[in-house]
Amino acid sequence: MKSEINIEIPASIFNIRRFEATVAEIIDYTYDIKGILFKLADGESIDFMAGQYVQLETSPYDKVKQKVSRAYSISSKPELQNALQLIIRYVPEGICTTWVHQHLKLGDKVFFTGPYGDFFLRDTEADIIYVAGGSGKAPIKSMLEHLAESGCRRKMTYFFGARTKKDLYLTDEMTAFENVFPDFKYVPVLSAPEPGCDWTGKTGFVMPYFKDAIRDPKNTEAYLCGSPGMINAVTKALMENGIPKEKIYYDSFG
Ligand SMILES: Cc1cc2nc3c(=O)[nH]c(=O)nc-3n(C[C@H](O)[C@H](O)[C@H](O)COP(=O)(O)OP(=O)(O)OC[C@H]3O[C@@H](n4cnc5c(N)ncnc54)[C@H](O)[C@@H]3O)c2cc1C
Repeated sequence: MKSEINIEIPASIFNIRRFEATVAEIIDYTYDIKGILFKLADGESIDFMAGQYVQLETSPYDKVKQKVSRAYSISSKPELQNALQLIIRYVPEGICTTWVHQHLKLGDKVFFTGPYGDFFLRDTEADIIYVAGGSGKAPIKSMLEHLAESGCRRKMTYFFGARTKKDLYLTDEMTAFENVFPDFKYVPVLSAPEPGCDWTGKTGFVMPYFKDAIRDPKNTEAYLCGSPGMINAVTKALMENGIPKEKIYYDSFG
């Protein structure tokens, strides 16, 4: 017997498209992290939620003949509709990141598809803990820039984990949000500061510092972005501090 079935397709899927863009700016944030601004073709705009990602398509280079696509979180705010920025960390021998770091030039044409993903800010009044490492800063930057446009009174604390001082970037920009939002704190934490460096900030792992930042765990959301190891360790620590698992959102870069 045949019967009709109803299939629900999330509206966001209809937003996914292939875009053509031109490299408009390349910034060396650290020795292995670049910020790249892509300007969309004339008349094009991309509609996404802060936190989502695109799949960047590579072009053949050197001995690499195949084209690959890799996921990169959008680091610019959704309000910037005719361009978007990605923050890309170099992975030794990585196909896409070698292309980006060693071959991509200003003016080059690229293609990407998107937007994808369900890592986006929930529209609630809950307090927020952000935790990022390395290029995991990308989607959090987009979220904060977006909230700065729309206004936000939520209590927010942003922990950024890095090894040494030379792994820190956009520190002034993130700290400046303390003057934009009524209750925001940016907390960079170094796990292995070089001996003799003049670091006076927090050291070790980020997890021991959560306790002081959480005032009402049941009314706190967490947004995490970085390596799978970091996501696992941070999720465990947040749950030990009473934050419900279903309020911990993450994008794992593994
Ligand atoms: C949802 C999502 C969002 C992402 N957003 C970002 C982003 O904003 N910025 C960013 O820099 N990356 C991001 N990534 C990671 C990115 O998609 C690629 O995996 C990464 O850039 C490596 O690609 P590649 O082609 O250079 O390396 P590949 O050729 O795929 O891999 C080469 C080798 O490196 C290993 N490897 C792959 N990734 C890593 C890694 N991250 N660290 C160490 N070793 C690795 C592989 O296991 C392999 O052995 C994201 C991943 C996901 C799933």
